[in-house]
Amino acid sequence: MSFAGRTILASSIAKTFNEEIIAKVKTLVASNPTHRKPLLVGFLANEDPAAESYAKWTQTTCESYGIDYELRRVANKDYLEESIFDANRDDAVDGIMIYFPVFGNAQDQYLQQVVAKEKDVEGLNHVYYQNMYHNVRYLDPATKLQKSILPCTPLAIIKILEYLKVYNTLLPQGNRLYGKTAVVLNRSEIVGRPLAALMANDGATVYSVDINNIQKFTRGQGLKFSKHQVQDLGDNTSELLKEICQDADVIITGVPVANYKFPTEYIKEGAVCINFSFHKNFNDDVKGKASLYVPSTGKVTISMLLRNMLRLIDNTNAAKGI
Ligand code: NAD
Repeated sequence: MSFAGRTILASSIAKTFNEEIIAKVKTLVASNPTHRKPLLVGFLANEDPAAESYAKWTQTTCESYGIDYELRRVANKDYLEESIFDANRDDAVDGIMIYFPVFGNAQDQYLQQVVAKEKDVEGLNHVYYQNMYHNVRYLDPATKLQKSILPCTPLAIIKILEYLKVYNTLLPQGNRLYGKTAVVLNRSEIVGRPLAALMANDGATVYSVDINNIQKFTRGQGLKFSKHQVQDLGDNTSELLKEICQDADVIITGVPVANYKFPTEYIKEGAVCINFSFHKNFNDDVKGKASLYVPSTGKVTISMLLRNMLRLIDNTNAAKGI
């Protein structure tokens, strides 16, 4: 009888963070003089049903963790910037997120940078990004009291890899993917490129595939570099894709195309397969090849968003010497 791989649902993985987050929220509420709960504010300035359902999920998850959530609808998107400024200044607001797209162009990236770094639960502030790409893990490297925040979707996938035991805990932190090879299909600035960088910074060899070409992210032989280096390998052809998948322990897909399917025959026997695209990028026969298959990651992303918020509160307290 042949072996079929296991499907692991994001909801089961997200549950493993429940205890940690609920306990942390209770400690924060108890230590706050007014005993107020942490407050996350979400800004919705579009009519997108996907954003609306993401907002509902955020609210449900916040409530289950004992966190307050407020959805602020902004009818005229030209006033969104002012509304974000107000929330930045308001001490009662601990975390801020925006449901994108708002304008659907580069103005959205500007709006993201309007969110105060101290309240940016999505971890998209330029300071956090630069730290991530440069493998700088603290905002205060000398005292190491304030951890740099990671973008929540790449962080969710890292946490999924830890849960699946792709991270080898016998190795020192920061090198726990040493010896592992991964392929990431997607190189967006929100998920694919930061994810490839994070995995390579942790010691993996990562092949980053986008619609046009394939790049290799590594810290070099024997992890000689302190942060990843990038090498262009050539155009994204089926021959090159097949070749890089031959030794891949992990294949992660994020192709935003409804009819895209990753060729099952390229998957190494026993590889770990994770899809973060809204669309199912793997065929149903993926379990004939993969040892572990995670069909979606969104629920872990929301947990990471809230975990980031608690870390931001810790950082603010550390900066005040509390
Ligand atoms: P994007 O459009 O910004 O980027 C898509 C990336 O995929 C680009 O790098 C593009 O070159 C690449 N790509 C397209 N076709 C490809 C192909 N055939 N082979 C290899 N690469 C290809 O999109 P995005 O914001 O990165 O989102 C991608 C998907 O992930 C969407 O479905 C989105 O809904 C989903 N998403 C999920 C989460 C989550 O938490 N689960 C978070 C953000 C985005």
